[in-house]
Amino acid sequence: MRQRIAVVGGGPGGLAFARVLHRHGHPVAVFERDPAPDARPPGGTLDLHEGLGQLALDKAGLLAEFRGLSRPEGQAMRILDTDGTVLRDWRPRPDGRANPEIDRGQLRDLLLGPLDVQWGRGVTQVVPGVRDGVVVHFAVGRQETFDLVVGADGAWSRVRPAVSSATPHYTGVTVVETSLDDVDTRHPALARLIGDGALGVYGVNRGLVAQRNSGGHVKVYAQFRAPLDWHTHVDLADGEAVRASLLALFDGWAAHVLDLLRHGTAFVHRPLYVLPVSHTWTHTPGVTLLGDAAHLMPPLGAGANLAMLEGAELAESIATGADDLDEVVRAFEERMWVRAGQWATITAAGLERLVSPNPAEALALFDEVQPS
Ligand SMILES: Cc1cc2nc3c(=O)[nH]c(=O)nc-3n(C[C@H](O)[C@H](O)[C@H](O)COP(=O)(O)OP(=O)(O)OC[C@H]3O[C@@H](n4cnc5c(N)ncnc54)[C@H](O)[C@@H]3O)c2cc1C
Repeated sequence: MRQRIAVVGGGPGGLAFARVLHRHGHPVAVFERDPAPDARPPGGTLDLHEGLGQLALDKAGLLAEFRGLSRPEGQAMRILDTDGTVLRDWRPRPDGRANPEIDRGQLRDLLLGPLDVQWGRGVTQVVPGVRDGVVVHFAVGRQETFDLVVGADGAWSRVRPAVSSATPHYTGVTVVETSLDDVDTRHPALARLIGDGALGVYGVNRGLVAQRNSGGHVKVYAQFRAPLDWHTHVDLADGEAVRASLLALFDGWAAHVLDLLRHGTAFVHRPLYVLPVSHTWTHTPGVTLLGDAAHLMPPLGAGANLAMLEGAELAESIATGADDLDEVVRAFEERMWVRAGQWATITAAGLERLVSPNPAEALALFDEVQPS
């Protein structure tokens, strides 16, 4: 008899898991809290690495479609100092496919494909160890029972407490995100400044990153070290007040760089939280975690990639592996913990260097990771 499998969360990890199971003809229930795929803005762009996110798409049979949608030119990266001098201007080779960019919304739609996601089914609690399986409780009040429940429900996972008491803690770095639309026609000078991919400007304990999405959309991330309550005197719902406080924070930076903030619309407050590096738990039959729910780390280009690969690998092992589901999950967890622990260490050190008292550290990091 087929095992009853559920995944909680329809982000990159949960959808990759479900899509690979679907490819192998294995049924899976997908529970997502959002009421519809477009219920909230999907977020910015993601670079999918050859050996991580792209490998996951390959396992889902979606690599060719991804290549048609993604933007290899988006790998370009320019670094400036705070007076606007260009320090590095890196462009990928025309055939370079190591980390092409894709809009999150495009990736979500690609992964969704034929999946029958149960939208508006927020999970409140998962209870393992019940005689007939693992019980999933929903905000709408009903409950269902499964042989395996995969928590792919992100940073503030409601599945995680079933296996671990860990909770995310603040890194000391906050990001405020804003956006520019139609940048090539409405802000041509900024479009030239950003180029085809991303722009990073690093000062003392702060940085500004601007990243092209498709269709002339740009996301700008102001990142800075600050206590969690830095905004006590700023109404976060008042965009002009947030803009003014950011311009004060970045005071003295080149005027054409600060135009990224002056022209930004809608400001989103994102304090950066992480789970402890190398977070693991005592294996609990019937429940596991993947992606941010398992190993929330600083957003330095690994989180979605890892979530997708974990989802694809676990699904493939379930669909093609041995009959003993619990052994499959146990082996998956061991592999995930090692790889995620390595990335958590790398990204934690990366955040320290990118938002650092010594801006030369950010440039040195770029030189270390960028192929020449
Ligand atoms: C600004 C920024 C830039 C980033 N850039 C990159 C990048 O370039 N490359 C990269 O690899 N990573 C990047 N990341 C990290 C990446 O976004 C995450 O690591 C990734 O989205 C994690 O995927 P996930 O599927 O584990 O969780 P999520 O994407 O958080 O998805 C979780 C899903 O679960 C749903 N959910 C939550 N709670 C419940 C519940 N109780 N019941 C049901 N559903 C629930 C949510 O609605 C959501 O759809 C970035 C992050 C940020 C903040």
